[in-house]
Amino acid sequence: MRATLIYGAGDVRVETVPDPKVLEPTDALVRVTRACICGSDLWPYRSMPVSERGERIGHEFLGVIEDVGTDVEGLSPGDLVVAPFVWSDGTCDFCREGLQTSCRRGGLWARGGIDGGQGEAVRVPRAQGTLVKLPPTEDPALLASLLSLSDVFPTGYHCARTAGVDPQTTVTVIGDGAVGLSAVLSAKRLGAERIILMGRHDERTALGREFGATDVVAARGEEGIAAVRELTGGDGTHTVLECVGLREALETAFAVCRDGGTVSRVGAPQYGELPMGFPVFMRNITLTGGVAPARAYIDELLADVLEGRVQPGRVFDRTVALGDIAGGYRGMTDRTALKVLVCP
Ligand SMILES: [Zn+2]
Repeated sequence: MRATLIYGAGDVRVETVPDPKVLEPTDALVRVTRACICGSDLWPYRSMPVSERGERIGHEFLGVIEDVGTDVEGLSPGDLVVAPFVWSDGTCDFCREGLQTSCRRGGLWARGGIDGGQGEAVRVPRAQGTLVKLPPTEDPALLASLLSLSDVFPTGYHCARTAGVDPQTTVTVIGDGAVGLSAVLSAKRLGAERIILMGRHDERTALGREFGATDVVAARGEEGIAAVRELTGGDGTHTVLECVGLREALETAFAVCRDGGTVSRVGAPQYGELPMGFPVFMRNITLTGGVAPARAYIDELLADVLEGRVQPGRVFDRTVALGDIAGGYRGMTDRTALKVLVCP
């Protein structure tokens, strides 16, 4: 089969790799029908040292089951399924607590001999715990929204949930990438009435307004902080959803958070130390967030997607064939594409 490999910064290639098959009784083999490129795939795409062998990449996909191991129940060949961006057994204590990203027998795609999502097929370990069965559909818009359940929508939702967004809280979302826009949609779903989106790309913030943002602040740094404070009577918002992952974004998050409020971060952190010294301490600000247990949220969000109450798949603004995935990476890196859908 063909799959995407990354050989270093700026160098992704589609190559022929061994066909995956069921190896363990708990495996399933999924033929990928939709995959996508994640903002977090851009970190290695920008900075990975040159590798002679190339590494598999991709962790968001949905597709059709072709084969299952003898221990897999409830999933059969022909079923449409979506995979969260971490695989998990569904039975350990962490999985039962809804923290499948800490599964004692789980792991990441495209690591340690496990297939990546950006290919024609994937051997799914712990398939019964990992995969979520979907009703059959060929509706492209619905498939895009179902694919967003793999990572981007639950990640935005995790940000809003861990921040404690509810109808009484005001919200600032930092970042107008696909996760930031998903966080806006999530805050709206949780009942927030005031949602300030910090972002400076017009077409993205326009989608943010359709997702529920009430105000947009394009300025960054001190000017952006002043703008959010002005919109909130000088105080900032009760919750701040940091969806970028850079230190400056986190500093802005603390600066626009109301005293006693909560900052949640879901952007993969590109910083080593937290800017959380004495001034933040004196303001009783809570920091929460982290990697999203997407598997837990799929159960909660699936009905809304299937019934069309939310359309998180609108974050996809470009579709490429697997063979053209390098162009998709370039488009997301140079920001001509918000999020790229891949059709193997
Ligand atoms: Zn587990």
